[in-house]
Amino acid sequence: MAKWRCNRPATGKAVCIGRNYAEHAKELNNPVPDEPVLFIKPASALVGTSSSLSLSQRLAPIHYEAELSVLVDKPLTNATPEAVIAAIAGLGVALDLTRREAQSALKEKGLPWELAKAFDGSCVQSPFVPFDGQDLTRLQYQLDINGATRQQGDTGMMLNPVVELICHLTQYFTLQPGDIVLTGTPKGVGQLYNGDALTLTLGDTRLAQFSCVEAP
Ligand code: ZN
Repeated sequence: MAKWRCNRPATGKAVCIGRNYAEHAKELNNPVPDEPVLFIKPASALVGTSSSLSLSQRLAPIHYEAELSVLVDKPLTNATPEAVIAAIAGLGVALDLTRREAQSALKEKGLPWELAKAFDGSCVQSPFVPFDGQDLTRLQYQLDINGATRQQGDTGMMLNPVVELICHLTQYFTLQPGDIVLTGTPKGVGQLYNGDALTLTLGDTRLAQFSCVEAP
């Protein structure tokens, strides 16, 4: 295992925020919310990036959302900023896979998003770099597909910065060791296709490289 890698894996749920970048809210014609839009992916949604990414034809079309992912290794309930900082173990990039058409239909009917956001394999998690005090308001990350940059995130552009976001969400959802927080996607979301070759980068570190294949 490479030295830059955090030796703790993500094993639990992912607490996610929608519309944390104004430019992304705009591209989907969503208003910028007053309060964070939160949802959860269960542990069964989690897959790694060590091998290829299986896309189920049954669930297609599936869209990508590249997001900074924050791994915690201490329980957090109603957490203070200091407690959040002390609990962060690693930083990675995740794909919040989304069945966009299903999500639009569910939204229109005012129904929950699980069928669009929480299905098996919907949380694609890169390896983590250890957290050692990096400035969480100045992180850049990137998704490239087939050699072209599709999404570039800068945590300085977040509507709810990482630490504030985690303080807020732990008022409702306790985070356990092994849980992750997906901190929202910048603009540039789109559909994934079989054969697409993806690269996830955090700062100067290439975290993962894998290809999409049709699920058997
Ligand atoms: Zn997302």
